[in-house]
Amino acid sequence: MRYLDEIFGLSGKLALVTGGGRGIGQVVALGLARAGAEVAIVSRSGAEQTVKLIEQAGGTAYSLIADVTQEAQVDAAMAEIIKRSGSLDIVFNNAGVCIHKDTLDASIAEWREVLDSNLTGEYIVARAAGRIMIKKNIKGSIINMASMSGRIVNIPQWQASYNASKAGVIHMTRSLAIEWAPQGIRVNSLSPGYIATPMSVDTPKALKDAWTPLMPMRRMGTPEELIPAVLYLASSASAYTSGSDILVDGGYTCL
Ligand code: NDP
Repeated sequence: MRYLDEIFGLSGKLALVTGGGRGIGQVVALGLARAGAEVAIVSRSGAEQTVKLIEQAGGTAYSLIADVTQEAQVDAAMAEIIKRSGSLDIVFNNAGVCIHKDTLDASIAEWREVLDSNLTGEYIVARAAGRIMIKKNIKGSIINMASMSGRIVNIPQWQASYNASKAGVIHMTRSLAIEWAPQGIRVNSLSPGYIATPMSVDTPKALKDAWTPLMPMRRMGTPEELIPAVLYLASSASAYTSGSDILVDGGYTCL
């Protein structure tokens, strides 16, 4: 076996990717499959296109329908994964939403929608996965999608609910990392800067023009540029890393 495969390879592992039907989740699902993992993709509207891309690349994947805010649906998806694949080794807890609205204009329903999807949804998925890993004695890796917005306040758009949800993800990650360290489960988070995906590409040009001078590299990142960090956190390369938040932001948060 080649040295990099020994460290970063995921052969024989089952990776769950939430929100893998498009955007970052789709690209990272393909990256996990190319590193050797079988990939189960969970989203509300299906991920057939991602499954096709993975199969075309010679990998194995399947799509399951579940809303991560609904515990019963998540439990059913996990049960299906165990039935089909027999294991759950890696979770890329990625599904999320963002609403750009001034605080005085945003409704409490919108605040709840963002917190429910990004923080409670990731908690529901991590908890269900942790339960299975502990029961089956799997020394798994859970990677929670945070954001640089969990550390800084984006300008000029206002998005207090999103920022608060991602700050919550970072500290929930630390909490679960400590709670489950004795069982050998590692929990880390990933904090990207602006990444060009459907969530951000449809952003009005005026807003993107306002972001560019704030980005040290004067460009958004690509979803592909997140794959190496995810492979690090998913694999035995990060065997002694838990409770960490890995920034992949092109230096944005240094300013
Ligand atoms: P997209 O909007 O492109 O994709 C989001 C995915 O999440 C979709 O597949 C969607 O599928 C799924 N999803 C949303 N809500 C739920 C739900 N309740 N249950 C199940 N699936 C759900 O977003 P991105 O790829 O841009 O973002 C992915 C993650 O990365 C998010 O957590 C986001 O906050 C984070 N992030 C993004 C950045 C960016 O600049 N793009 C920067 C930093 C972090 P469906 O609608 O079918 O359910």
